[in-house]
Amino acid sequence: MIPKTIMVKLSGKKLKELNDRIAERENNLCALCGAYVDKGMKAHHEPQGALKSDEESKMILLCLMCHYKRHNTSAGEEIKAKCKEYLSNLEEGVQNE
Ligand SMILES: [Zn+2]
Ligand SMILES: [Zn+2]
Repeated sequence: MIPKTIMVKLSGKKLKELNDRIAERENNLCALCGAYVDKGMKAHHEPQGALKSDEESKMILLCLMCHYKRHNTSAGEEIKAKCKEYLSNLEEGVQNE
């Protein structure tokens, strides 16, 4: 059976709290290159588009540079793959608890 995908859409305080949790999870470091990420920075959503969802398991903390590359350069696909890999590893960790 294919699980039904429910998209989560948060706003205001809840969204801020979620972003704070992601930053905390990553110790304020970019998940890809390890650069320090300033507090208050919004986490990146992976996947993007129609599957975009405000959930911890679908968000990743990226520094300005990695985030910019993901959205605006030809390296975007590579970054996307790394984000997906990172998040799937994270998910496995949660399931093993
Ligand atoms: Zn980075
Ligand atoms: Zn993004």
